[in-house]
Amino acid sequence: MLGIVFIVLSNYFRILSPQVSGFVVDKVEQFIQLQNHLPLQPNEHQKNYDVSVKLFIKEVNEHHLNFANIIVLSAATLLLLALCSGFFMFLMRQTVIVMSRYIEYDQKNEIFKHYQQLDTGFFKTHSTGDLMNRIAEDVSRVRMYVGPALMYFINLAATIGFSLFFMIRENWRLTMYVLAPLPVLALTIYMVNTVINKKSEKIQALLSDLTSTAQESYSGIRVIKSFVQEKAMLGFFTRNSEAYKKNAIGLAKVEAIYFPSMSLLIGLSTILTIAIGSWYVIHKEHNVTAGTITEFVIYINMLTFPVSAIGWTASMIQRAAASQKRINEFLLTKPQITDTLGAKPVVLNGAIQFVNVSFTYQNTGIKALKNLSLHIKQGEKVLIMGKTGSGKSTLVQLLLRMFDVGEGLITIGGHNIKNVQLQSLRRQISYVPQDVFLFSDTVQNNIAFSQEETIAFEEIENAAKFASIHNEIEQFAQQYQTVIGERGVTLSGGQKQRISIARALLKKPEIIVFDDCLSAVDAKTENEIASNLYRYLEHKTSIIISHRIFSSFRFDKIFVLEEGELLEEGTHEELLNANGFYAEMFRLQLSGNKEDLPITA
Ligand code: ADP
Ligand code: MG
Repeated sequence: MLGIVFIVLSNYFRILSPQVSGFVVDKVEQFIQLQNHLPLQPNEHQKNYDVSVKLFIKEVNEHHLNFANIIVLSAATLLLLALCSGFFMFLMRQTVIVMSRYIEYDQKNEIFKHYQQLDTGFFKTHSTGDLMNRIAEDVSRVRMYVGPALMYFINLAATIGFSLFFMIRENWRLTMYVLAPLPVLALTIYMVNTVINKKSEKIQALLSDLTSTAQESYSGIRVIKSFVQEKAMLGFFTRNSEAYKKNAIGLAKVEAIYFPSMSLLIGLSTILTIAIGSWYVIHKEHNVTAGTITEFVIYINMLTFPVSAIGWTASMIQRAAASQKRINEFLLTKPQITDTLGAKPVVLNGAIQFVNVSFTYQNTGIKALKNLSLHIKQGEKVLIMGKTGSGKSTLVQLLLRMFDVGEGLITIGGHNIKNVQLQSLRRQISYVPQDVFLFSDTVQNNIAFSQEETIAFEEIENAAKFASIHNEIEQFAQQYQTVIGERGVTLSGGQKQRISIARALLKKPEIIVFDDCLSAVDAKTENEIASNLYRYLEHKTSIIISHRIFSSFRFDKIFVLEEGELLEEGTHEELLNANGFYAEMFRLQLSGNKEDLPITA
C-alpha cells in the first residue's frame, strides 16, 4: 500500500514538469512579443495547469520578476520537481522491491519446510531437477511479479492516468491526434508479445534439458569414461545446445523488431503533435501555444518507457501465475504419514512385533509383504535373510514409518507405532540404509550428523572404532577433518558403509537396524566389525539384514523371507536341521568361502 502511495507521488511530481516547461516556453514567446511591441498573445490564465503549477505562476507574476529571473526560478523549480519525483521513486523501490525479497525468502523457506514433511514416496515420484526448479526458478518468477512487474504496472497506470488527465483537460483535440497511433501500438505489442512468450517458454524448457544433460554427465562421468562415450555425450550435449541457440537467436530477432517499432509509433505521435499543434498555433485556434506543444511532447516522451514495458509486464504476470500454480501443486500435497491425533512421544523398549502385516507399493502395485508376522524380544539380535526383492528393506521402511502398513500392525514395546509421535519413533531407531548417503562435509560432521549439540570428539572416535573405520580415517591426510567429495566419491564403497555405520552407532538408540550395509566389505573386515558390534550391541535390539549369511555373529533368531512371506524362522541350529533355504545357503557359502566360518556353540 505504501509502495502504491509512493508510486503515485513520484508520478505526480514528474507530471508537473511538462507544465512548468510549457509555461517557460510561453514566457519566452511573450518576451519576444514584448520586445517587438506586439500585443501579448498567450495568456497563462487560460491554461488548465495543475493547482500547484497555478500557484507557482501566481507567485511569479505577483513578484514582477524580470525575464531572466523567471527563467532561473523555473529551472530551479524543474530541478526541485525532479528531485521530489526521484526521492519518491527511491522510496517506491525501497518498499516494493524489498517487499518482494521478503516474499521470496518466506516462500523459499515455506517450500523447503514442506518438502521435508513429505513422504519418501513423494520423492520417488518426483525428480530432483523438478523439486529444485520449483524452489529456485518458480519462486524467482513469482518474485519478479510481486516486485518489479507489479511496480511497473502501477507506475504505468499512474503515468498514463496522470498524463491523459492533463492532456485531455488542456486540449482534447490535440490529445486525440496524439493517441491516434495507439490502437496500432497496442496491436503490435499484443502480437509481438505472444510470439516472445511462446519462444521464451520453449527456451526455458530447452535450458532445463541442457542443464540436466550437463548435470547427468558430471555425476556419471566415471561411467561415461569407462564406456568411452565422451564423444557421444558431447554430440548429445551439442545437439541440445544447438536447439537452445537457435531458439535464443530467434527470440533476439523478434525482440529486435519490438523496440524499433515501438520507437517508430511513438515518433509518429510526436510528429503529429508538432505538425497539428503548429497548425493551431499559426491559425490561433483552440488556444494552442508553443508551450502546449512543448508540454505534449514531454508527455509523450514520459509515456514511451511505460508503454513499451506493457508487454514485458503482461508476460511477467502470466509466467508468475503459471509458476505459482506449480508451487501450489507441491504445497498442497499433504504428507500421508503424519502424527495421528493425540500421538505422544513415548520411550520405547526394544520389543518389536509384526502382526499379519501386508504392504503394497501404491506406485507399482507390487505386493512387497504378505501377511507377515514376527516377534523380536527386547535385546535380541536377529538376522533377516532372503533373496533380493524378498521384502527385507520394505520391512524396515515400515518399522520406521517411511510407509504405513496396508494391513496388520506393528508394535514396539507394546505401542502401536501409529500412535507414537513420528519424530520420537525415528529418534529411537538407528538405521543404516542399504544405499549409503554421505554429505559433502568432513568425516567428523558426517559421523556426528544425528547429534544436535556438539559432542566430545572421543565419542565420535569411539563410534568409528566400533565401526572398524577409525584406523583408515587416521590414514587420511586430514584425518577426521577430511572433506568427503560430492557424494563421497573419494572413498571406497566399504569405507562409506562403515562411516555410515559409525553415524548410526553414535545415536545410541534402543533399536538398531543394519540394512545390508556390509555388502561392500570383505570377509575379514566383516568379521572384525562383527566382533566389535557384538560388544556394542550387547543390550540393544538389533536387526541385521543380509542376503548372504552373516556367519560370524551369534544370532538369537533368524528369519528367512521369500516374496514377502516368512519362509523359515529359528536359530542357526534349528534352521540347519530343518534343511531348507538357510541350510542350503549355508552350505553354498561354506564351500565358496572357507575362511568365513561361523561361530557356533
Ligand atoms: P529387498 O530389500 O529384500 O531386496 P525390497 O524390500 O527392497 O527387497 O523390495 C521388495 C519388492 O518391492 C521388490 O519387488 C521391489 O521391486 C519393490 N519395491 C521396493 N521399493 C519400492 C518402491 N519404492 N516403489 C515400488 N516398489 C518397490
Ligand atoms: Mg534391500
